Amino acid sequence: MNACKSRPFSIDQASAGATIYARHAYDTAVSTTLEIVGEPSLPEVKMHLVAPNAPATARVTANDLCIKGRSSSYVRHVCIDLAGTPMAAQFHAGQSFGVVPPGNDHQGRPNKVRLYSIASPTWGEDGHGQIFATTPKRLISEEMITTPGETQAHPQLILGMCSNYLCDLKPGDPVQVTGPSGKRFLLPTDPSKHDYLFLATGTGIAPFRGMLQELLAGPPAGSPWQKSWTRCGSRVELLMGAPYNTDLLYDQEIQDLANSHNNFHYHPVISRERRADGGKGEYVHQFLERHLDAFKDMLQNPRTLIYVCGLAGMQIGLFRLLAAKGLSAHYLTIDESIRDIPADQWSDEQIKRRVRHTHRCMIEVY
Ligand SMILES: Cc1cc2nc3c(=O)[nH]c(=O)nc-3n(C[C@H](O)[C@H](O)[C@H](O)COP(=O)(O)OP(=O)(O)OC[C@H]3O[C@@H](n4cnc5c(N)ncnc54)[C@H](O)[C@@H]3O)c2cc1C
Repeated sequence: MNACKSRPFSIDQASAGATIYARHAYDTAVSTTLEIVGEPSLPEVKMHLVAPNAPATARVTANDLCIKGRSSSYVRHVCIDLAGTPMAAQFHAGQSFGVVPPGNDHQGRPNKVRLYSIASPTWGEDGHGQIFATTPKRLISEEMITTPGETQAHPQLILGMCSNYLCDLKPGDPVQVTGPSGKRFLLPTDPSKHDYLFLATGTGIAPFRGMLQELLAGPPAGSPWQKSWTRCGSRVELLMGAPYNTDLLYDQEIQDLANSHNNFHYHPVISRERRADGGKGEYVHQFLERHLDAFKDMLQNPRTLIYVCGLAGMQIGLFRLLAAKGLSAHYLTIDESIRDIPADQWSDEQIKRRVRHTHRCMIEVY
């Protein structure tokens, strides 16, 4: 898919809160066509090569904890060998895939497919696109359940079916996979044309791990991707939200990337602990607001793309902030019905219903 189509230079809808059209920064003197400023051109990607009703058998090659310290949440880095399946070497960083757990659900129906983000670059963990990784978090919760014959509900431990199945798999175990899926949450065809603001919470870090390797680290020796890869020198900022410092994922790996690439900055944002300066814990959009001076130029720059991945609802605070600070033009379209209301007074419901993100703001929340 090429999202960067040429359009006539007649529309300036910026004042209406819509996409800005203007002469492209790298438009040549002879060119008579114009492109939407900053719109990313995304690669064509394969999707649904393996359907949920006929999953392919892949094999687990590794399964390790990937949280920084001791924590009450359990998140693992699971590597899966796709060799011999139609998905081998056919996925992109940022895409997801499906897992079909064996057996039946709590209502006796065959288990349905669940989606998981690919945490690897396009060349996979092995450099040849045969092995990819994902980052499942064990779903452990409590529900009020009324058992048959009883009138009163009682609290009952619920272990998420697929996440716990994935986290329990051992190297060598088979796993039924589907996909890949997703054609919007991708790095652009030419990454050097953009700067990147990545916002993650929890397992939302998974696609960014793959993208960071793709932008900065590059394929390992012997990978066929080595010939075409060049390091991306663009500005890359990652805000990683977690409740506690010990819940950070892939922390050392990301820290190492930040230490060796001065165009990349890693900002862990902790919500339930006091900050080093004594301030209260905060969420990623609150961190962004507190440091807005450092991010403002970037957010106004037509090169910039925002990617948001993680907890459903995390985009609401970002949307409110961008609109309240007059920084939404590139990233949001705002319905007329709320344009006269100050953005910091928008309800969550109004944002969900009346604010849409543009192609320069990619959202993957679940
Ligand atoms: C695009 C996309 C990417 C994703 N990427 C990731 C990722 O990288 N990592 C990750 O961890 N997750 C990811 N997810 C979420 C993932 O797909 C699953 O939703 C998650 O792992 C929970 O699935 P589960 O089978 O463990 O839970 P389920 O068994 O499906 O349980 C889900 C909920 O159902 C209810 N429930 C379950 N059993 C019972 C019962 N016996 N009685 C009553 N209620 C019950 C509970 O409310 C429970 O919280 C992603 C989702 C999407 C859409």
